[in-house]
Amino acid sequence: MPKSILKIALDLPLDRLFDYLSNGEVTQVGQRVLVPFGHRKQIGIVIGKTDASDVAVEKLKTVIQVFADELPIDAETLNLLKFSADYYQYPFGQALLSALPVRLRQISPAVSCKQYAYNLTALGQLADLEQLPTRQLVMRRILLALQTHGRLTELDLDAISSSARKVAKQLVADGWLVSQQVPTIIKTLEAMIPVAPELNEEQTLAINRITQEAQTYKAWLLHGITGSGKTEVYMRLMQYVLQNQDAQILVLVPEINLTPQLEARFRSRLANFPLVSLHSNLSESERLHNWQLAQSGAAQIIIGTRLSIFTPLPKLKLIIIDEEHDSSYKQQDSMRYHARDVALVRAKRLNIPVVLGSATPSLESWHNAVANHKQANKYNLLSLNQRAVSAAKLPHIECIDTTKVNLQYGLTPQLIAALKLRLARKEQSLLFINRRGYSPVLLCSACHWIAPCTRCSSRLVVHLGQKKLRCHHCGHEQKIPQQCPSCGNADLHPTGYGTQRLEQTLAQLLPAARIARVDRDSTSRKNALVEILDQVHKQEIDILVGTQMLAKGHDFPNLTLVGVIDTDSALHSPDFRASERLFAQLMQVSGRAGRADKAGQVIIQTQFPEHALFNALRGQDYVSYADALLLEREQVQFPPYVFTALLRAEANNFELVQKFLRYAFEQARSFSSDVLVYDPVRPQMERLKGMERGHVLMQASSRVALQRALKNLVGLLRVHAIAAKVRWAVDVNPLEF
Ligand code: ADP
Ligand code: ZN
Ligand code: ZN
Repeated sequence: MPKSILKIALDLPLDRLFDYLSNGEVTQVGQRVLVPFGHRKQIGIVIGKTDASDVAVEKLKTVIQVFADELPIDAETLNLLKFSADYYQYPFGQALLSALPVRLRQISPAVSCKQYAYNLTALGQLADLEQLPTRQLVMRRILLALQTHGRLTELDLDAISSSARKVAKQLVADGWLVSQQVPTIIKTLEAMIPVAPELNEEQTLAINRITQEAQTYKAWLLHGITGSGKTEVYMRLMQYVLQNQDAQILVLVPEINLTPQLEARFRSRLANFPLVSLHSNLSESERLHNWQLAQSGAAQIIIGTRLSIFTPLPKLKLIIIDEEHDSSYKQQDSMRYHARDVALVRAKRLNIPVVLGSATPSLESWHNAVANHKQANKYNLLSLNQRAVSAAKLPHIECIDTTKVNLQYGLTPQLIAALKLRLARKEQSLLFINRRGYSPVLLCSACHWIAPCTRCSSRLVVHLGQKKLRCHHCGHEQKIPQQCPSCGNADLHPTGYGTQRLEQTLAQLLPAARIARVDRDSTSRKNALVEILDQVHKQEIDILVGTQMLAKGHDFPNLTLVGVIDTDSALHSPDFRASERLFAQLMQVSGRAGRADKAGQVIIQTQFPEHALFNALRGQDYVSYADALLLEREQVQFPPYVFTALLRAEANNFELVQKFLRYAFEQARSFSSDVLVYDPVRPQMERLKGMERGHVLMQASSRVALQRALKNLVGLLRVHAIAAKVRWAVDVNPLEF
């Protein structure tokens, strides 16, 4: 009998599968294999089997190794990735392999997901630690830990030492320990399970409606103001689903920062259900481990950032997307998928419900929930309009016109007074400024030269602490010049405010205040953010200064003042989504004020206090603002009223970019009459990391038409010689232009 031929997906920028001869081992679809490719070896995934190949059999190479002790990736996950690769115009093999934990993309065998826990034997219990040789430090620690805790899992061992697993095995061989396979190693704190609050009417209604239809696909948009108890709704739904069946639930969260808090809440309230998290802050082995626990079905609650939407979950029965409007759900390189959109597809294919929660839904979702109610299968709207804790009132929001008062170091007298009042009352304040660094520009007072980045169309940000100028786009760093390179003047001014400068200013103005800064610079060290937040909770901080990192999710009961500094540039941004984003951000950051029984106040410093955005914000009126924005979008035919895609290209030489885009533009024009193809243009950031950039925008009133045109176009581009000379990518439903 001829050996069967396997169709294998490889991590290559080619949109095809590769044929290999089976090495005789039993091989299933979805199985990981090692194959020869050119002079190297590659990891691949078996996608199918065939009897005939386009390649002559004698030319086919043979699979080197089948990782038979690993679970194959199931068909549902493979299909989802295939769909996504097609939809986002990305090679399937690359999409598939990059959805796997790094360890599974590596050639050495991954560690198994079988987990062991260790206990002391009778002999081990009698062991006298004092008698052990002192150099057996790890052994002593293991035995000591076992004598105090009774049982250690492999993860506990990892925490003791990187060699602890090896030592434990030796101790088993010596008869001191016994090992026992355990279903999961998930540490569920046997803490007190908190009492669930009594639900209010709106929460009850939302939960009832969803649970009544928990067996079918439905997209629920849970629109609830900050503090309205959305998380409580999630937890009740999760409980309902998990209690009634052997299920898995995927909870998507926008950022790693938010996972620990949500994880802690879920762990305590849903303590009986094994939980894992999947995000980029995990070590590679933790990530693999958690992923495998999800894949095997052992983990029942999976909290993850966007990539986790592609995790194999054999018993998936519910998907929850927290802060569904958040732009971090969109991948900005490689396969530019949107995790929310993929989640909707996944839920639909599995015929399970998906819940999208937000205080400020994306206009896409809002449109699907309200404007399109005639269409079947669109979203169902559920609203939570009240804060869950009845004493917690919505904050009072006011705008201070910065053109009408004398600013002191960029701060209005009103804000300074409000800060002083909080200090006197021993309450906390938060100042929100969406710019890290000391000041956003370095300006020459004589000739108005501004320090530019040589590799990007951007300005260098002053980081005074490090005495550096830094580009926030490409990471380029240089010393702060002593004099203006243009005119020689020595009077160079850091101009404008960033988090560092604000922090410094506050320290001068309010010397008694304990101030902490939260931005990417101050939290780059692992656990730094957790430590700061912890200090805030312990009332060791009076004023928090920070970027949007602070806007979300954090619940500080004693925080009663939020100040917003200088967000005006977003009001007049050329990006048509800027106001949607700013509104969401300000709603969220305002929601930090007055969460418990203390009233909150929000002071926004702006030159445009009468702007429609601020009017809506003062009234806490997402709905009318969203409706107004949608109306605008409809009038000018912007998303969500049309479907768009960008063909992006970059090269170190702009002529190449132009030539490539011109070719693409002409092709696309010629074959797609139902798609509007715009002339090639340069994005606002013309140069980035030394690369000259350009793009072609395509737009259609039908998703299908756009997909058809893109498929044709990408087919042509992939084989055209000029495409090899530029870096190009298709961005379907782009968020940024
Ligand atoms: P959101 O996710 O909408 O911001 P949360 O679910 O975090 O809101 O709820 C905000 C606060 O209100 C939390 O402290 C939560 O424990 C509490 N809470 C939620 N629902 C209720 C309820 N029905 N009764 C009392 N407190 C509630
Ligand atoms: Zn100058
Ligand atoms: Zn740069």
